[in-house]
Amino acid sequence: MVCLAQVGDNAVGAPGAAGATGDDANSRSVSPLVACHECGQFYHMCALAPGKTAKCGRCGSVLYRAKSNSIERALTFALAALVLIVLSNTFPFMTFKVEGREEVNTLFSGVKSLHAQGFWWLAALVFGTSILFPLFKNLATLYVLLPLRFGRRLPGAVKIFRIVEAMGPWAMMEVYLLGVFVAYVNLIDLGQLELGVAVYSFATLIVVMVAGDAALDPREVWTRFGATAAGAVVPSRNDPTVLVCHACAQVNKVTRKKRGMHARCSRCGSALHFRKTDSLARTTALCVTAAVFYIPANVFPVMTVISFGKGEPDTILSGVKELIHAGLWPLAVLVFFASIAVPMLKLFGLSFLIIMVHRGSTWRLRDRTLLFRIIEGIGRWSMIDIFMISILVGLVKLGQVATIEPGLGANSFAAVVVITMIASMNFDPRIMWDMAERRDDDQRQES
Ligand SMILES: [Zn+2]
Ligand SMILES: [Zn+2]
Repeated sequence: MVCLAQVGDNAVGAPGAAGATGDDANSRSVSPLVACHECGQFYHMCALAPGKTAKCGRCGSVLYRAKSNSIERALTFALAALVLIVLSNTFPFMTFKVEGREEVNTLFSGVKSLHAQGFWWLAALVFGTSILFPLFKNLATLYVLLPLRFGRRLPGAVKIFRIVEAMGPWAMMEVYLLGVFVAYVNLIDLGQLELGVAVYSFATLIVVMVAGDAALDPREVWTRFGATAAGAVVPSRNDPTVLVCHACAQVNKVTRKKRGMHARCSRCGSALHFRKTDSLARTTALCVTAAVFYIPANVFPVMTVISFGKGEPDTILSGVKELIHAGLWPLAVLVFFASIAVPMLKLFGLSFLIIMVHRGSTWRLRDRTLLFRIIEGIGRWSMIDIFMISILVGLVKLGQVATIEPGLGANSFAAVVVITMIASMNFDPRIMWDMAERRDDDQRQES
């Protein structure tokens, strides 16, 4: 069989359907199709050796990876994670001691304190991203994979797995752990800190969940739900009757009449669109909204530390300055990068990508796709500050001796993080590559 997606750790796939004759053509007729989700190029899939990766020859994004015993391994990690989630949520997280008084907190304490102080939106966000979504993701993964391991499928499994896949970026335990680290360093001067059992089980949980994510091959799960579409010919990337499912990556052939709102994925039932709906308009509106929130996020204090009756409100920038004054350079760099540089990069980066599409530019498409990939990947790390605030607020509440209160700026800052994440999810990088297609068409017509 001829593999059109070339394989290898650094190798890239090559588009096209040329060169197949005789047996090759026969085997190609059952070759599953895969589409690059970043540039829209179609390929024939081929078997890879375990651990190998197939990449798009056009934009360089990963098409698929070969993973052995994917479901069995992911299942083992998910079972271990469930035990660790229970431990992390029931045992003490940290104990803060100062002047003979002490406060013990759990993972949930920060959420409770934020809610008690009227910061319900922050409380909901922290609860969702650090407790609810990871728990749901774990239980849902078990619900889908356990029966699948024995060749069965429980009711609603397809829909649930679709939600698990979409939820990925919103389960932020690894970001939370970094928030714990920043909170810990911030508190060393204020009093004595003891780490509880839950911190260790939480750290282990993150390793286990990351390993579970790395082990699971969503392609295999989807294939067990329904065969991947195959074809003898690689479709043209601008064929409006070939629609790729955003949820399960199935390549769907639809009639011209069914295009638009009525087309549904043959495997998972998701609504199909040629490109993400109103991608540019939505991304622009969300970027403008995030830019508006960015101002109060930096002007208003994000928290106030009161120690022995005295204390001043801190903005994000003054927090960074204090870390520098305390000689905590690495931490200052980390907080500056996560809380100031990343939101700016996201806003400027997305604006740049939007402007280039409006101009119909075909300049450095591969680099612009890489920029988009970076923006999409780093967005969630800005939550470090929000998690740090929730931990401090839940732990340091010893009245006049030591108290930490959240500030109004934290609300706006959390809004910036969430809105920019949704903005990058709405941007469809394939529209940048559509410009190249249009340019090639124009050149062909001229010549
Ligand atoms: Zn591509
Ligand atoms: Zn689908």
